[in-house]
Amino acid sequence: MKTLHNKLRKKYNHLKRSYLPSSEKPKRLIIDKAKWLNNADSPVMLMIDDFTNAWHSRNSGGSWDIGGDWGGGLDKEGSAFSFLEENLLKDFPEVKVTFFTVAGKISQYTFAVPFTFSESLNHSDESRAFFRKLHEDEKSEIAYHGYNHGAPGEKTVNFMQEWKGFRSVDEACEQTEKGKEIFKDVFGEYPRGGKYGGWEYNEFADASIARSGFLWWCRDWMPRDISDSISDSYYEPQFFGGSFVVALPSTVHGYLWDKGQIERLLEKQQIISIEEHIAPVRPDGLIQTPNVIDDIDELKSLFNYLRNKKVWYATGTEIAKYFIAYSFTTIHDIEHDRFKIKYDGHVREPMLTVIVDCRSFCEDNKKPAEKVILPDGKKIEDFAYLDNRRHIIRVNIPVQNGPYQIQ
Ligand SMILES: [Zn+2]
Repeated sequence: MKTLHNKLRKKYNHLKRSYLPSSEKPKRLIIDKAKWLNNADSPVMLMIDDFTNAWHSRNSGGSWDIGGDWGGGLDKEGSAFSFLEENLLKDFPEVKVTFFTVAGKISQYTFAVPFTFSESLNHSDESRAFFRKLHEDEKSEIAYHGYNHGAPGEKTVNFMQEWKGFRSVDEACEQTEKGKEIFKDVFGEYPRGGKYGGWEYNEFADASIARSGFLWWCRDWMPRDISDSISDSYYEPQFFGGSFVVALPSTVHGYLWDKGQIERLLEKQQIISIEEHIAPVRPDGLIQTPNVIDDIDELKSLFNYLRNKKVWYATGTEIAKYFIAYSFTTIHDIEHDRFKIKYDGHVREPMLTVIVDCRSFCEDNKKPAEKVILPDGKKIEDFAYLDNRRHIIRVNIPVQNGPYQIQ
């Protein structure tokens, strides 16, 4: 009786053990898509609005007032751009700027007072060269902010913002086409993204943005709330329009930001998109806020605060492409040394960061993964090991359809 009992117990323990979690190696690769490039907590996008070929002098002098350059001063001494470079970008070389630029002559606010100087981006060889150089610099992007920003009124309150005033989708597209052609003339390509002037738009606007071929757009000013009165997902990027335009949320005020807001965005892995304007001085006598000149100290302390955070400095187009890569990929048929991707996004080969636990493969070979072979046969050998045994890797892959193999 005792022997039988022992036998049974042995069998029972054996059975029990085989259902317990074991420290054996996984049978397949374990793959996670990172929400943002390099597995950053948040992308950081500095947005500077109304940067365009114009400047203003209150007494109609031959040069702009202090704070009166909107970009027309190009990179000359005392220009808005040189202020930005000397007072912020030089000290924070990691920061990338997305400029929102009016393509044609920016409109005055009131009939009575025009800008002292206002021209289209392609007005002169000098202006073309200046804006083009900025766009080609990998640290900045020139995005679209309208053909003229709107139409003047008797008073400032009667100024009609550009996308608020169109009477049909056709009319919006026709005017946007004119602005796009100026972009093509200056930059050799159409703008990829943009922003509504004054955050104002009517029922024809969104459809016109999709039809005009934009990849991404800033529709709404939506500073990140931390009182939990609005659900978190409100602040995520979204798709809109028939062509899946990426709507990027605008979450942080360059002057009124606070640490709680930044921490919440990091915790939720949401975009830190910082709203600013290029210049304080307006022809109608009001001060444009927020603006980089008055807010320079707050901007410096914001970028200082971000220095030891896990962030990814990026332009609007880079963020939109990553969001498309993340949203339109399915990882499937995962085996011990390979996996497949199905991708049906509207951007060719966007980059995606994946974290791959390769133990199923590495422990057989007794050596770490050394390369990832893409569906098109190209190799990626540049990646980070995330653990001491070099079994878990973080790798940026161009998204293609088909098998990826670990070697
Ligand atoms: Zn604007």
